[in-house]
Amino acid sequence: MKKLIQNGTIITACDEYNADILIENGKIVAIGKNLECEKAETVDASGCYILPGGVDQHVHFSFEFNGAKVRGFETSSAAALGGTTTVIEFVNQKKGQGLLESMEQYRTDQVEGLALVDYNLHGIITDPRPEVFEEMESLVAAGYTTVKLFMAYKGMFFHADDDAILKALKAAKKVGVTVMVHAENAEAIDVFQKELIAQGKTEPYSHVLSRPPLVEAEATRRAIYLSQLAEAPIYIVHVSCTEALNEVKQAYTSGLPVRGETCSHYLVLDDKKLALPNFEGAKFVCSPPLRSVDHHDSLWEGIKMGWLNAVSSDHCGFDWKVQKHLGKDSFVNIPNGAPGMENRLAILWTYGVEQGRITKQKLVELYSTEPARNTGIDHCKGHIGIGYDADLVVFNPGWKGIITNRRSLQGVDYTPYEGMAQIGRAEKVFLRGEMIVDGGEYIGKEIKGQRVLGKPFGASYR
Ligand SMILES: [Zn+2]
Repeated sequence: MKKLIQNGTIITACDEYNADILIENGKIVAIGKNLECEKAETVDASGCYILPGGVDQHVHFSFEFNGAKVRGFETSSAAALGGTTTVIEFVNQKKGQGLLESMEQYRTDQVEGLALVDYNLHGIITDPRPEVFEEMESLVAAGYTTVKLFMAYKGMFFHADDDAILKALKAAKKVGVTVMVHAENAEAIDVFQKELIAQGKTEPYSHVLSRPPLVEAEATRRAIYLSQLAEAPIYIVHVSCTEALNEVKQAYTSGLPVRGETCSHYLVLDDKKLALPNFEGAKFVCSPPLRSVDHHDSLWEGIKMGWLNAVSSDHCGFDWKVQKHLGKDSFVNIPNGAPGMENRLAILWTYGVEQGRITKQKLVELYSTEPARNTGIDHCKGHIGIGYDADLVVFNPGWKGIITNRRSLQGVDYTPYEGMAQIGRAEKVFLRGEMIVDGGEYIGKEIKGQRVLGKPFGASYR
């Protein structure tokens, strides 16, 4: 029942200090120097940092594209292996069903008993009937405090127009629900896609050409204007380029309740990957697309300055051999998304902290503390403090290796980070006090993830 983690260096979003941590019944009950507890099992964390468990506010375990469905919650052990102990998954409202009904059904059928880390769900509004906006209050009562709408994907059932977004913003703000948007101009993409196909440019790289940065920037600005019209906060998911970042920056620095996130892949991978031969480029098809390398510096600046307050994985487990090949003849049919829940901490540490781009505290803020706030679960997640859940990562900064899909638990036949250097790893991971990773290996099969209830407007931008 009791565990004592000794001799580690605790890193939070604002601190760094040496202390022991006493855990009882899954919670942190004491933090201090030379703690003693006769009945506690001891864990030695000498030479390691102790970080709060990661919160990945943007993952997909149920996304479908062109009939292809991503790997589900049974693969969520991969999140744990990469130091993430809580994930927030996007769930589509089913046509003809209510939003809450769709979410609860999905949770009962495909999450409970399967999840291997803690979780909550975002609802995606796909069928914006008036009744759906009236559901907001019951959503909050059920512990769901975020909804998302897709401005992109013209013609697909989950596409949302400005009418739906404005109505969602107005309804959401009354009850403290945060509206998130995937900001890309669906009409413009459709025009470019058709032009490219007419020119016979059907290979994966055309995905980049069909969604230039201004397609994202325009939708980002429009979403911000809609939020101003509704006088409601808005959150822009997966900001990928300088132009869209500038829209968020301008809004945020002028005092508007506008924030956004970026994702690990936009910080370290670039659009040349989509030009790889033999259809390898399809592995890197996600939306918004990977950008040219000159966008990387502005995104690193964006997260350092706080205009973007989280780094997510946008994990999407489509395999390459079968599912990505649905788009062999045309890039528009390649399922959008790439796996990455396992690599978020490693990417931020290796390419952020080790390269002097962000501090260790900033890393904790981006991968745990702020995502917990954005999703209203900061009452128990995202920090190392008395009363918080004992979700802890014992991080070994001395470990060096190479990222390879061979040791991945994501259940997908590739990783977009194959062959990249990795410094440091999650040596041990605790989920509510239970050790689920030891020696860099996942050992937690018996430990199930639990639902975390979101509180309204936990977001820091309120
Ligand atoms: Zn996504």
